Amino acid sequence: MVESAPARQRSWWGWGWADQALRASEIDALAPLVAAQLDTAVQRRDPVRVGDLDLRRPRIEAPAALRRICSTDPRERAGHAYGKSFRDVVRAFHGEVAAPPDVVARPGDETELASLLDWCGSNDVAVVPYGAGSSVVGGVETGGKWAEGYRAVVSVDLGGISGVLEVDRTSRAARIAGGTTGPDIEAQLRPHGLTLRHYPQSFEFSTLGGWIATRSGGHFATNRTHIEDFVESTRLLTPSGPMESRRLPGSGAGPSPDRLVAGSEGILGVITEAWMRLQERPVHKASASVRFADFDAGVEACRRLGQGSLWPTNCRLLDPSEAAANAGGSGEAILVLGFESAHEPVDGPMALALECCADAGGDVGAGVRVREQGTGEGGDGPVDAADAWRSSFMRAPYLRDAMVALGCIAETFETAVTWDRFADLHHSVTSTAEASLRSVCGGGTVSCRFTHVYPDGAAPYFTVLAASRHGEQLAMWDEVKSAVSEAIIDAGGTITHHHAVGRDHRQAYDRQRPELFAQALSAARRTLDPQGVMNPGVLVDP
Ligand SMILES: Cc1cc2nc3c(=O)[nH]c(=O)nc-3n(C[C@H](O)[C@H](O)[C@H](O)COP(=O)(O)OP(=O)(O)OC[C@H]3O[C@@H](n4cnc5c(N)ncnc54)[C@H](O)[C@@H]3O)c2cc1C
Repeated sequence: MVESAPARQRSWWGWGWADQALRASEIDALAPLVAAQLDTAVQRRDPVRVGDLDLRRPRIEAPAALRRICSTDPRERAGHAYGKSFRDVVRAFHGEVAAPPDVVARPGDETELASLLDWCGSNDVAVVPYGAGSSVVGGVETGGKWAEGYRAVVSVDLGGISGVLEVDRTSRAARIAGGTTGPDIEAQLRPHGLTLRHYPQSFEFSTLGGWIATRSGGHFATNRTHIEDFVESTRLLTPSGPMESRRLPGSGAGPSPDRLVAGSEGILGVITEAWMRLQERPVHKASASVRFADFDAGVEACRRLGQGSLWPTNCRLLDPSEAAANAGGSGEAILVLGFESAHEPVDGPMALALECCADAGGDVGAGVRVREQGTGEGGDGPVDAADAWRSSFMRAPYLRDAMVALGCIAETFETAVTWDRFADLHHSVTSTAEASLRSVCGGGTVSCRFTHVYPDGAAPYFTVLAASRHGEQLAMWDEVKSAVSEAIIDAGGTITHHHAVGRDHRQAYDRQRPELFAQALSAARRTLDPQGVMNPGVLVDP
């Protein structure tokens, strides 16, 4: 008899695959390096085992008709209690799962989903849509003050509503189910020679519906990179029924229904399908790295590149700390540049971009690496800062979890601001974060990189690493996060460029958005979700 391999398991408490997490011996090997960097002793702890959790008993039972798609299995409930922010991972790691969902439902199609929404609406049960649970803003969290107003909470895992359903080669678009993950989308489009080409860092463990619901930002740094740039039409299943927009390449017919759906974070209904604009798979690629004596010179180069209509696919400026940690830098800022195209060689635009960087004081030193289709992963040419940066980018979430095991604070936050305010925001946010880390943690590091560059501004992304103590990690981080959020809003930035609002950013979001807009959004919600069960506490008051 042939034994089948056991199914690969997601980590219930941390990022990604359970078998990819750093092993205890690897974390122990990391400990002295972290201790030296933070100038303090660190101690590894192990995550609480899911079997040792004493979860609250489910407060409601699904009706017979829905039982087939509902689970109260402890691992399922614990694994759907939180997303994957530092706050989430710390709590789950230490077994603090006070308010797991009462039920995890996995509808396989819209009919089952509609029955589920009906049952929840008539029984005062809150519905938390769950794509792949990579939210870092409390978007899929099933507990909190808001939950007190509901009889129970159901996490609706949309993994069963999955697949590329239809490809329109003529218009170069595809109808894709909301619960389809990044790798599944690309695998099913590849035989058609097409790609959605949307690669958030969480690509492997996030879904199309989650991307649209949070207006996610892809890996590409300029031009079309936000998911809504690729949305042709959407289908939202709301408690009041389906709302589907017409497929159109463009339209001036009033406010766009798709723009209401994009960023709705589950409060208006569930995105079950969307027609997405696709692209030919790129065959010409080139990458290069440019060194700058300081961050400001790199910022100026990025501004010129952003306004130069060259549209590099990658334009990641790493400040000296980020460059040292992730791209082999030694005291200078590094700009990782990339171009790609399905149709034309990209050495021309790359040469112009490098000229622009040199004009702004950049050292283009190591030169360009050109890759054409068929040269294999990595292609020919020297391994450079771009490679080092790419591999540490993919490994970073697993490393973050190792920092949690060592009792440290390791988290990121991001914003966007126009160029005229960039220098002030960068200074104010960095100094606020540093001062807060000094007073709360006795020190720590704050580094910055650009994730996206626009003609009128940039999206800086900050990484914080600090010492803390097991048991106090959360309170300490919350204090720092609150200080930097205030600094961001005061400096004219947005509380989030692509991580979304969720429950964690509500306070700052309320300061950022116009009050009348909040009222209009609540009114739209009352129409689509009259019982107010959809993802309460996110974006607007329940
Ligand atoms: C390591 C890491 C890296 C990340 N990198 C990026 C990045 O590069 N760019 C970026 O933009 N974000 C990033 N994120 C954040 C996160 O991956 C995105 O917000 C992503 O879009 C969420 O997708 P998901 O399918 O996991 O949704 P979930 O986390 O499951 O849900 C997110 C929100 O959308 C709602 N939702 C989910 N699916 C649906 C649906 N079908 N219909 C209606 N509402 C729905 C949920 O209720 C919740 O409010 C990262 C997160 C992590 C942990």
